[in-house]
Amino acid sequence: MSTMNQAKVEKYRNDFLKEVTANVEEGEWVKMCMQCGVCAGSCPFGPYWEHPPQEIFMMIRAGKREEVLTSTSMWMCTSCYNCIARCPRELPITHIMHGLAHYADRLGLAPKNQPTRKFANLFWNNLTKKGRANELKLGIALYFMNGFIEGIKTALKMQKMGLNMFKTKRLSPMELLGGHGIKDTGGLHAILKKAREIELANAEKFNG
Ligand code: SF4
Ligand code: SF4
Repeated sequence: MSTMNQAKVEKYRNDFLKEVTANVEEGEWVKMCMQCGVCAGSCPFGPYWEHPPQEIFMMIRAGKREEVLTSTSMWMCTSCYNCIARCPRELPITHIMHGLAHYADRLGLAPKNQPTRKFANLFWNNLTKKGRANELKLGIALYFMNGFIEGIKTALKMQKMGLNMFKTKRLSPMELLGGHGIKDTGGLHAILKKAREIELANAEKFNG
């Protein structure tokens, strides 16, 4: 490889690591990974993912921006914390994985049909509306997240359990009319708005 090309590759690599450091929650820890593989070996779902955490961190350092940000792997993390408990360098791996997923989503690069991404967005929108999860609306939204026909099929399949939940008062039809919320939803929305502004300002600072 010529010296000029080598210089270009180095710049590209450094840029993506810097981008992750600046924009991803706990992203500054990625450079501390020593590639021992303990997290990949400890992750209960690692073998079924496209890239376990160790590989994702290696790819970030190698500058593989598109492959990392379009990966489904970060969306598979169940927050079991096995990796954090065992990492000899004490990297906050779970938070980095969620941070990367969130960042990819903000950039519009996250895989659109990833079911866990759809669930995460439905849950976030449901929860932040009133500060408490509306389980009935969330359940309905989940049933129908893959279209109307799928929704009807799932609802029919689950009808016995649903009726039992109504009977035992684990679900209330009143939730459809709005449901419970926290006292100060306006305050919650103001906090979230401010957090988004800070996030955007940080991204702008990085992008110059
Ligand atoms: S356990 Fe920690 S140091 Fe080892 S590969 Fe995973 S993140 Fe890197
Ligand atoms: S927290 Fe996520 S990345 Fe870590 S072991 Fe559990 S599922 Fe795997």
